[in-house]
This record gives sequence, C-alpha cells and structure tokens, in this order.
Amino acid sequence: MSVLEVDRLVKHFPIHGGLLQRRVGAVKAVDGVSFAIAKGETLGLVGESGCGKSTVGKTILKLIEPTSGRIVLGGEDITALKPGGMWPHRRRIQTIFQDPYSSMNPRLTSGTIVGEPLENFDIAHGKERDERVARLFARVGLRPDAMRKFAHEFSDGQRQRLGIAKALSVNPDVIVADEPVSALDVSVQAQVLNLLIDLQEELGLAYLFISHDLAVMRHISHRIAVMYLGRIVELATKRELFATPLHPYTEALLAAATAPDPRRAKRKRTIVQGDVPSPAKPPPGCHFHTRCPYAVADCKVTSPPLREVAPGHHVACHLR
Ligand code: SF4
Repeated sequence: MSVLEVDRLVKHFPIHGGLLQRRVGAVKAVDGVSFAIAKGETLGLVGESGCGKSTVGKTILKLIEPTSGRIVLGGEDITALKPGGMWPHRRRIQTIFQDPYSSMNPRLTSGTIVGEPLENFDIAHGKERDERVARLFARVGLRPDAMRKFAHEFSDGQRQRLGIAKALSVNPDVIVADEPVSALDVSVQAQVLNLLIDLQEELGLAYLFISHDLAVMRHISHRIAVMYLGRIVELATKRELFATPLHPYTEALLAAATAPDPRRAKRKRTIVQGDVPSPAKPPPGCHFHTRCPYAVADCKVTSPPLREVAPGHHVACHLR
C-alpha cells in the first residue's frame, strides 16, 4: 500500500504586472504530476534546475499550497488542510534539507535542536526526551558529547547527520529529502546515502529523494521519475531507466552524465541543444519539442500523456 500518493498535482505561481498589478500570467512550476510511494521505497525525482522538482517537495510538505490536484498521506487526503488541520499529520512527513544549518537555531545546542520536535509533538519530555535524543545521536553516528555542541561546530557531513536525527525524532513515515547531499564531498555523500539506506531498511521509511545528480539517484533510488518543465516525462525502476531509457530527454540526461561506454557504442547518444524554456511560457504540445532531435509535427500541438509502455515503465512521448 502507498504511504504517499500524489494525483495530478499542479502549482502555478501567478505573475502580476501593469499599473494595477493585475494577474498577467503564471509560472507553471508543477503541471500535473502523479506518483505513489510505498512503505520502505525511495522514489527519486530528477531533473535540471528549475524543472519543478523542489516545488513538488514543498507542495507535498504543505509549505506552499497546491493550485489543484490531490495529496494523500497514509490514506488521508491532506490537500486542503490549513496549518491547524495539518498539525497532526506533520509528524508523519518530515524533511531533510540541502543546508540543514538554515533550519537550526544557532543559539541552541544540537541536543536541544533534535529534542525540540519531541517536545512540540508531545512525544517525550525531560529525562525520556534526553534518552531518546542520545539514542538518535548514536543511530546517526554522532558521539554523545556532540549533544552539547552548537550547529556551527559540526562539519557539513555531521550537520546533515544532525538534520537526519531531527527528522527521525518524531518517527515519520515519509521523508522528503531535497538535494540532501549536494553540498557534501563525494566520500561524505556516500556515507550519508548509506546511512539513509540503513535507516530505511530498519524503519521502513519512504523517501521522496529530490536531486539533479544521476549518480546519487542510482545509489539510493528504487524507482526514478524524470521531470522536465513541470511534468514527469518518464517513470521506471532504476534498473529499467538506466538500461532502457525511453524518453529522449532521459537519454540526453544519461548521455551527459555518463562517460561513453564502448559496449553501448551502437546506441545513439542523444544530445539536446539550447536552454530549458521558461516555465512562465512553456512550449505548447510536448514541452520538450523545442529541444528534441526526434520531434514530429504532432509534438508541437499535442501533449503526450504519461503512458505505461512496459510493466512499471511509464513514458510521455508520441513515438513510444
Ligand atoms: Fe520528442 Fe515528440 Fe517525444 Fe516530445 S513527444 S519527446 S518532442 S518525439
């Protein structure tokens, strides 16, 4: 059963202009995104900067309100909940940021930072809280004396471990991780990814893992959704996606991220030209047609739906 379902999620940011600041358009950051994540599963959401993947994460967390669509957490529809109504569900969906420092009060010790959610959600207080915090520190690989330190006294990798401990403190079902290792050195990245994998196996956590980095996605994801200009263009298991990419944009991303493989020399390497168009003015039809080397006339007019073309393998392209 899915712990998180997202159905035709849309987030448009209005653009205002003119003397009267009337609405003159919209940035279509997320334009009809659907997926589900099962307990113990990691869904990777990958795409270039500005494709809308972080907006998907923020909308699911209800940090911003969706324009339309549905978000179902643990079987309950949370789409229309206001902050007060959302509070009981906040515990079940937590986040890990790229820069955990930005969400940590520099005047509080790290032990207090990790213990704060336990107090706020009335899970544990006093000695019991302290014992839980100590167990969390040990679980994420931080020494007990680190509880007395302040966030600025940690290395980047340790600070991300602290962010993970804070997210875990309230026993969530789902964690939205937005570029959580992008700012770390490669060796530290692997340690943090392996910690997340171990925690998932132990606790059955579901992750929505947002990243632009395909190597990171390959390490941690079970399935991967590729986003382009607010839409998912391909969704498949990690194995399928890397072995048989079906969307020209996925082909291009893989070609750009991997060194030429002589065993696959016969496969055409898709190179896309030009920049990503503005989400305030996405091209009609298939959003990718302005850069796609295979585009046909219909691509400029009709938007291809995301279709299942093989078991579990979905793609949005007229040619598939
Ligand atoms: Fe390219 Fe057309 Fe497929 Fe879009 S629908 S990816 S433009 S071939």
